Amino acid sequence: MIRAVPHVAAMAPYALADLGGEGTVSLAQNESAFPASPAALVAGRAVLDQMPLYPDPEWPDLRAAVAEVHGLDPDRVLCGAGSMELIGCLIRAFAGPGDQVLGTEFGYAFVASAAAQVQARYVKARERELTVSVDDILAAVTPESRIVFVCNPGNPTGTLIPNSEILRLRAGLPADVLLAVDQAYAEFAYAEFADAGNDPGDTFALVERGDTVVLRTLSKAYGLAGARAGWGYFPPGIAGEVRKLLNPNNISIPSQAMAAAAMRDQAHMRDVVAKTAVIRDRFAADCRALGVEVPQSHTNFVLIRFASAQQAVAADVALRAEKLLMRGMGGYGLGDCLRATICSQAVMDRAMDVLKGVLA
Ligand SMILES: *Cc1c(COP(=O)(O)O)cnc(C)c1O
Repeated sequence: MIRAVPHVAAMAPYALADLGGEGTVSLAQNESAFPASPAALVAGRAVLDQMPLYPDPEWPDLRAAVAEVHGLDPDRVLCGAGSMELIGCLIRAFAGPGDQVLGTEFGYAFVASAAAQVQARYVKARERELTVSVDDILAAVTPESRIVFVCNPGNPTGTLIPNSEILRLRAGLPADVLLAVDQAYAEFAYAEFADAGNDPGDTFALVERGDTVVLRTLSKAYGLAGARAGWGYFPPGIAGEVRKLLNPNNISIPSQAMAAAAMRDQAHMRDVVAKTAVIRDRFAADCRALGVEVPQSHTNFVLIRFASAQQAVAADVALRAEKLLMRGMGGYGLGDCLRATICSQAVMDRAMDVLKGVLA
């Protein structure tokens, strides 16, 4: 009998979204409703003849694009096969058996899984009104705390805390606790302000302290989830350790080319963000008019809170009957909620018709 090491054997597999059967429209994975920049597709196709070669392990063009757009030092940018790879490597580098990885009540589920891989204890600080609470995070810090993960805007809540709260969190954390700010949805929250890299949501300056990292992804606002490209801004000392754990040649040649071109097409990204926000805000308002709670979202999804878990299940069943799949939230202790990725207006209209039938 071949056995896995005990802590792996004891782990549950990471719960990916149920994608339904053929013909099902997924509103379950927060993928972009719109295609990636046409420039990204051109760039990807243009490198297909390089496929016998390994990709550049230093991602030079993608790093340069990130640095240009955000006004950052390219040497401090690390790229991952999705930001999930960077999250996993951060935890493997800075937490081990018995250490505490601190997240928040409705924080990103993948962090818990990555902590289990290294036998670290994943602890969740309470959120208030579906929103990250800095005071509750600070109260949950113990001498075993190694890393604090904050997702801002939050997934699955969609809520945002101001940058000043992130600064207050950092100021209140012990110097030996690493802070990771996961900004997978930042473009939806900050795009309207992001001229010339002067982003009022900018937490990148915190990285200069040496104890904070900021993570971003091409998977959401840039419409490149299939490319698997994420990046983070790292202090040199942290980056050096994480680099040892990244797979070499981790991002394919077409993915690097597409990601760099998508970064350089900020106009396309902002257009996607603006169009998504219009559809989102209308859908959220229509949901509220039906009497369900929807927190103000700063992302490309909404969290729909029904009157009861029973009602959420009824809505899910009715949606599935129409080949529409939202994400159940029982794993987050939010059995009365469904999370709906914002898709095209036509898809959201179909979903709204189903919800009207269920809630009438
Ligand atoms: C989608 C998402 C990511 C990014 O995942 P990738 O690996 O870059 O595709 C990271 N954090 C959160 C909270 C997300 O929702």
